[in-house]
Formats: sequence, C-alpha cells, structure tokens
Amino acid sequence: MEPRSRSKSPKPRSPASRRAAAVRKLRRMNEEQLKAALLKKKECNDKAHKIVEKLIDPIEDEKMLLKMLVDINQSHYQDITEERAIMKLCGYPICKEVIEEIPKQQFHISVATKTVYDLTDRKNFCSGSCMKKSNFLKSQLLTSPLWMRDQEDIPDFKLLSLDDK
Ligand SMILES: [Zn+2]
Repeated sequence: MEPRSRSKSPKPRSPASRRAAAVRKLRRMNEEQLKAALLKKKECNDKAHKIVEKLIDPIEDEKMLLKMLVDINQSHYQDITEERAIMKLCGYPICKEVIEEIPKQQFHISVATKTVYDLTDRKNFCSGSCMKKSNFLKSQLLTSPLWMRDQEDIPDFKLLSLDDK
C-alpha cells in the first residue's frame, strides 16, 4: 500500500490548501489578539472600578481628580454621584457637604420660561450649584470604550470655578 504522503506534505501547494493554511494562521492570530484585547478590557474595567470606589470618598486634590477622570466613562461618573448621594454626601466629587434637604418633587415647572425641569438628579447634590458643576464636568467625560483611551486625544477636563453659581 502506498504511503499517504500527500496529507503529510509540510507545505501545501494547492491554492485551496494554501488558503486553508492562511485561514488557520489568521484564526490563531485573531485568538491571540482577542485574548489580549479581553485582558486589556478587563484591566481597564478594574481600573475604572477602583477610581469609582476612590471617588466615593471626598477628594481634595482637583488635579488628581481630573487625572482620574480620563479612565472612566460618564456612566461611571453617574455611579459616583449616586453612590455618594446614598451616603448623603454631595454627588460632586470635590464637595464635602452633606445632602440635607432632598427635593420631594420630581419636576419643577418654570412659568417664566415655560420649561419643565427634571429634578431627579438634583437629589444627588447639596445644592443646585454643585449639580451644575457636576453636570459641567460629566459632560466633558469621554464615552468611547475605556480600552481605546490610549489611542485617543484626551481633552483637558475643566472644573467650573467655585464662584460660578
Ligand atoms: Zn455640594
């Protein structure tokens, strides 16, 4: 019986088998890339969660706060304000005030401007001023996937000064 040498040939020559080999190689590469991407994604998520935990406590260093914000998303920031509010701490990360009065109504209707304001978020802050400053900060945060931040132009985040009411 003839040995089946064709299947053992180290370098397939027919276009079909060459294509198959290319596909195999690509698949192997993709698997490695996928693993690396998943690992990076996990690391970024872990980092973001650490930042959320850290910012639930009051932070005094504004520069440090701005630096941390690069590695989180708007949804993380929202978590921070809500978590702080649950502990009756103003949702704006650099505010140390306690939330004393919680507006009971959910909406405020301004007759002057004929506008309905949703006060749902207001309950997370000690004052309207802090809500404004917090929303100003949140609106600057990036919404792109965390694991793509290193390929992105990071804007300079700014804080509303305390005099802005
Ligand atoms: Zn406040």
